[in-house]
Amino acid sequence: QSQELSQARIDYHAALLALQEYGTRMVCTGKMHTDRICRFDYLCYCTEAEEFVFFHSNSSFMLPNLGPRRFQPALLDLSSVEDHNTQYFNFLELPAAALKFMPKPVFIPDVTLILNRFNPDNLMHVFHDDLLPIFYTMQQYSDLGDEARLVFMEGWGEGAHFDLYRLLSSKQPLLKEQLRNFGKLMCFTKSYVGLSKMTTWYQYGFVQPQGPKANILVSGNEIRQFASSLMEKLNITTRGGEESAAEEKDEYIVVFSRSINRLILNEAELILALAQEFQMRAVMVSLEEQTFPSIIKVISGASILVSMHGAQLVSSLFLSRGAVVVELFPYAVNPEQYTPYKTLASLPGMDLQYVAWRNMVEENSVAYPERPWEQGGIAHLDKEDQEHILASKEVPRHLCCRNPEWLYRIYQDTIVDIPSLLEALRATVKTRPNLKKAKPASTVHPGQVREPQCQTSVQATNEAMLTVSWQIPWNLKYLKVREVKYEVWIQEQGENTYMPYILPHQNYTFSENIKPFTTYLVWVRCIFNKNLLGPFADVLMCRT
Ligand code: UDP
Repeated sequence: QSQELSQARIDYHAALLALQEYGTRMVCTGKMHTDRICRFDYLCYCTEAEEFVFFHSNSSFMLPNLGPRRFQPALLDLSSVEDHNTQYFNFLELPAAALKFMPKPVFIPDVTLILNRFNPDNLMHVFHDDLLPIFYTMQQYSDLGDEARLVFMEGWGEGAHFDLYRLLSSKQPLLKEQLRNFGKLMCFTKSYVGLSKMTTWYQYGFVQPQGPKANILVSGNEIRQFASSLMEKLNITTRGGEESAAEEKDEYIVVFSRSINRLILNEAELILALAQEFQMRAVMVSLEEQTFPSIIKVISGASILVSMHGAQLVSSLFLSRGAVVVELFPYAVNPEQYTPYKTLASLPGMDLQYVAWRNMVEENSVAYPERPWEQGGIAHLDKEDQEHILASKEVPRHLCCRNPEWLYRIYQDTIVDIPSLLEALRATVKTRPNLKKAKPASTVHPGQVREPQCQTSVQATNEAMLTVSWQIPWNLKYLKVREVKYEVWIQEQGENTYMPYILPHQNYTFSENIKPFTTYLVWVRCIFNKNLLGPFADVLMCRT
């Protein structure tokens, strides 16, 4: 044991010497603060000042070296929410020589990922803003493995779903408040700061009304890989793949209930009606009654998930392919304007069917004007504003997060009108949900067509022919593709329109609309199964 201690002391001295000699070193990715993740050697944190510290020495470096632009507005976003001014990261600077006058640093030997959780009490935020981005940031940097240490700097307590964060690494995540326990100055031997935003699909409406992100970069495949990794860690086995005849028959509907607010007032009736309509059993889950892992297990085997709009619907990422998501909206709330779960269900490769239903009957709604404002109360408003809200039939588009009309309407309870819900379901759920048949579609794209060529001939002063031919894409010979087609675009040089053609073979002779003594630009690409587009081959210049 004494040997271990002395070993630790030697390491400590080595670390301290390294910090004094080399200072802090930083290299980052990203051109902008919004797409930046930084890797540090010896990034330190002063728990008294609650500031990160960069120690300058003769051999420290800082890339990007932004000078004062580091504060315009920040070095990077510490949460996955884009450019939120409460989530910025920066550090203070000191010369390494100042260490002599400072408290002895405590070194954190783990490779650390430092970030802000955005709203750890809300399940949608937990998955969308934190768990998925953390999971894929860890995939991006190979030294952020199972042994990595997560450090949450947003300053909240553990929150309702801390166990989910624990699944991401074998080490206990650290909260900002716990850093004090390490002393006045702590230094992270190796750390990454910031989160990948690659997996996020929704913006919450801070600068423009909420909606899907403009440029979604994630597909259902990555969401499902994340979901299976989490389920594996929770020892939840899916039914997927080959099923026994008995299991096949055991299809069921899950109603995800909220028991505190935004209630479905006729839940029992709803469950009976759904079971009757689809001839399946229907079960109810709620975060107040079950543990989240047990809910994931139930949802992962369900054919249909029904729920009021709300964060619990993010659990649809655990549904199997082919399942149906049914989202219910209270009176005066337009489903088209609140689409985090629709967007998730509609990601390419998520392979979920999505149905929105909206209460159109005001009498079927129970509102709570006397509640506190954050639960939709409006008693604190002027009489005039209250009357305006009460008379309105739809919440107008608005920004996050304190719009009283929105909060008033979204926290209503609802008696679900069963006939209109079933009608919406029948209209949208074209094929009966069938989990057995739902296999992931291929996402292998064609390569370029090879050796594209053109030959031309002139028949008469107003008649010409253009023959275009090409070889199959190189990857096609290794693939079984249901349907292979080719697309040819022909553009007369100097014109700004083109004629597109879809062709089944590797050559074609065009004679319509082909003029003699004219130059045509010709593009050719391959298409698999109607929608998997390949790249165009280099443009051909064909003169008749
Ligand atoms: N929640 C719940 N039951 C309820 C009300 C809320 O489980 O009756 C959960 C909800 O799923 C979310 C968190 O509590 O994870 C916060 O709910 P809130 O209504 O604030 O947010 P929303 O669901 O509208 O995103």
